[in-house]
Amino acid sequence: MNEKKMPLSKEQLEKIAVKYPTPFIIYDEKAIRNNARHIYRAFSWVKGFKNHFAVKACPNATILKILREEEMGVDCSSLPELLLSEKAGFEGEDIVFTSNDTPAEEFAAAARLGAVINLDDIAHIETLEKSAGIPELISFRYNPGDARTGNVLIGEPREAKYGVTRDQIIEAYRVMKAKGAKRFGLHTMVASNELEDKYFIETARMLFKLVVKLKQECNIKVELVNMGGGIGIPYHPKDKAVDLNYISSGMQDLYRQMIVPEGLDPLKIVFECGRLVTGPHGYLVSKVRHIARKYKNYVGLDACMANLMRPGLYGAYHHITIPGKEDLPNKNLYDVTGSLCENNDKFAIDRALPLVEKDDLVVIHDTGAHGYAMGFNYNGKLRSAELLLKDDGSVQLIRRAETIDDYFATLRFNNAPVIV
Ligand SMILES: *Cc1c(COP(=O)(O)O)cnc(C)c1O
Repeated sequence: MNEKKMPLSKEQLEKIAVKYPTPFIIYDEKAIRNNARHIYRAFSWVKGFKNHFAVKACPNATILKILREEEMGVDCSSLPELLLSEKAGFEGEDIVFTSNDTPAEEFAAAARLGAVINLDDIAHIETLEKSAGIPELISFRYNPGDARTGNVLIGEPREAKYGVTRDQIIEAYRVMKAKGAKRFGLHTMVASNELEDKYFIETARMLFKLVVKLKQECNIKVELVNMGGGIGIPYHPKDKAVDLNYISSGMQDLYRQMIVPEGLDPLKIVFECGRLVTGPHGYLVSKVRHIARKYKNYVGLDACMANLMRPGLYGAYHHITIPGKEDLPNKNLYDVTGSLCENNDKFAIDRALPLVEKDDLVVIHDTGAHGYAMGFNYNGKLRSAELLLKDDGSVQLIRRAETIDDYFATLRFNNAPVIV
């Protein structure tokens, strides 16, 4: 069991809500920093270990700066994410650019920043060469297809649009070497929100094998292995968090068995985890607008799917607590809903909660990654504010809520002819 606790009391939240109306997301700085340190401690045996935080998980400059202070890099997949990372102070190889179906200008921007460019497809070599030239350091994203590692299921990589196939990968490196690349990385990512520890050890085995093969077949010494993101978090109180120390020591064993004897040490190991870093440390705080009693009982919130898509999109579980009622028995069954004209705009279905009343605050847990970031404006819903609960207990606005003016900003209200 992992207990789902909120670092703020009902009274504190009510005070915050006077200044910043609900809904809002609040991130816990201290917990994020502690978590980052925990991740780095677990992999301290790796020379040059880094987690390149996946910007898409939480694209907020203040959060990115905190992570930079904790020695993290970033993983970007688009031009805006690259520019946001630059603004947050990241540069050079602290930035990994893992994109797909990439436009030429994005390769150019990644090259300008000195980012590690991670190619998703062999057809991208030409686009990269034309837009930015051949960089000294190049990486490929590997998709193993049917080559499952060990006996652990790794999803259906064959169905994934990402990565260079098993038949293409050796040739891809040969081509880049012939074109003048001098330094090489290798990347994979074929899982998401994976809670099985062994999976990540098997991923390391698969990549280490390929690193050895690249040395033997093309005399290429890979210096950087990127295990991707996808480490899951325990959304449900009954889920078990991954054991990073177990994963790390399993990888270390393989490193000693496979990498060191081949003279490939030091090999830098990095990750691109987003969810693992900030996911558990963001809370969507909302207020009950109405309790509706129809064929079922509904708790109608002032937040909606535009603030958090995961339940509606994937049927994902997010824990819900009612501040001040944490210790009351969960005797009532509710659907917890938003206000979109979409029947899947539900944060929870048949959820057992204490008796919920109008104006109660409601906390939706584990919304620190892929929460705000996936927001949208459907039904004219405006995106919420993002707040930071700082180390010293104060609260800082790190992104204001959208206004109607923001919503209207891209529209043309007059009929002036368009001059092309
Ligand atoms: C989404 C993504 C990540 C981050 O995934 P998490 O589940 O947040 O760890 C990392 N790398 C790539 C290439 C991704 O697409």
